[in-house]
Amino acid sequence: MQHFPIFLALTGRRVVVSGGGAAALAKLRLLLKTEARITVFATAPDRQVADWANQGRLTLVRRAAEPGDALCAALFYAANEDAAEDARTAALARADGALVNIVDNLEDSQFITPAIVDRDPVTVAIGTEGAAPVLARAIKADLEERLPATLGPLARIGKGFRKMAEVLPFGRARRDFWQDYYFNAGPRAMAQGEDGVEAALDRLLDRHVNRSVRPGHVSFVGAGPGDPDLLTLKARKALDVADVVIHDRLVPQPILELARREAVLIDVGKEGFGPSAKQADIDALIVEHGLKGAQVVRLKGGDCTVFGRLDEEIEAVVAAGLSYDIVPGITAASAAVAGIGQSLTKRGRNASVRLLTGHDMQGFADHDWRSLARPGEVAAIYMGKRAAHFLQGRLMMHGAAPETPVTVVENASRPDQRVLGTTLDRLSTDLAEADFDGPALMLFGLAPRDGLPVTRFDQEAFPWPAASLPKSSQQTPSSLAMSST
Ligand code: SAH
Repeated sequence: MQHFPIFLALTGRRVVVSGGGAAALAKLRLLLKTEARITVFATAPDRQVADWANQGRLTLVRRAAEPGDALCAALFYAANEDAAEDARTAALARADGALVNIVDNLEDSQFITPAIVDRDPVTVAIGTEGAAPVLARAIKADLEERLPATLGPLARIGKGFRKMAEVLPFGRARRDFWQDYYFNAGPRAMAQGEDGVEAALDRLLDRHVNRSVRPGHVSFVGAGPGDPDLLTLKARKALDVADVVIHDRLVPQPILELARREAVLIDVGKEGFGPSAKQADIDALIVEHGLKGAQVVRLKGGDCTVFGRLDEEIEAVVAAGLSYDIVPGITAASAAVAGIGQSLTKRGRNASVRLLTGHDMQGFADHDWRSLARPGEVAAIYMGKRAAHFLQGRLMMHGAAPETPVTVVENASRPDQRVLGTTLDRLSTDLAEADFDGPALMLFGLAPRDGLPVTRFDQEAFPWPAASLPKSSQQTPSSLAMSST
């Protein structure tokens, strides 16, 4: 982040603008929304600027800016639409101690003005560090549409009521009250006209004061495979109201940042299936916060119902007398298979798919290898990296074809997703060479769809990513099924 967003108190402060044309007008329209004391230096100001000066909304000085003109100014805008004059006046203003912005010159500016969505006192500032003004405008347009015009008055009335609301205990109770105001009672009252809003606030406060404090609750939430866009709406809502978020190592930062700002984030990340004592600690932690009355989100990578030790945690929560709900998420298998352009099931190929773990608490997990080794079978293997050699041995021993495609997807759905297309006989060698260190899902019986770029991990192909598939893994599962029937 090269620019740090802040909201500057401008009431009574000097802001100086050099220039009186279109560029200056655009900035002045924004600045006039504030209570700053604005001075404009312009030899030939636009009529609008002169009108504002006549209305007493700003001071107009009909000459070019000179040394000392920006003394005591908080901000200075060089808006001369002339590079040389911008450079000259900016240097003067800097010498006077003002923070300087040169319109349309990011490099020489000390601050930039964001795109603004104005629902005063609610203000949304959007910045892209000059990288994508088009994007900033699109976001602004989107927000303009989404934020009701009544948001400003609601917030203003709410602000005047803040002291009254302090009869409610700080924390959850007060938050619930404001939540209710902004999203239910407030907009409903506002629809009948602004006059009724204060009375509605009074009634609402009464209701909340008389209401018993909400008990703790635990939501078990699947965070999906990593791409924040793959969170469910319900998961986002749970994060919006969470007091405490207890999360795994698999949940990436961009998702954690969606949690309420005041939420306490607790990382209980562990590698694979850790020792049971650790699980007991996690259970205890969830229960402890729930019993304190917190809205707890237990956030797990992928779908919380898949290899997530969910049942143990639910049992602990139920034993403590707490309520809970489960918000499923997109599991790694779905993300990985999407990443290689395939389906988990396919008519004529596999009518079932297995979710397997390479590892369980005892070590490498045992499965029904004989049935899995049959042609056309598909399995999504979680936590399979370390067990690759074992898996490969067991499957081949039970008659799986050496050329059975296996695809390993690392960091599925994330920007650093990598795909290894290989075959059963080469699986452990290729995987060792690929040296994945992120979470990786193995798709047994599936090759990436032809034509999709896949990273090759053999010696010649380094450094990756190279675009082509190893020959041996281009065989599609359907042709495999056909050749063996
Ligand atoms: N509940 C999770 C699985 C937890 S077990 C889910 O539904 O996805 C942890 C294993 O999941 C990892 O070892 C890895 O095999 C797999 N995994 C999780 N996220 C992944 C991702 N983004 N890409 C690839 N594999 C992932």
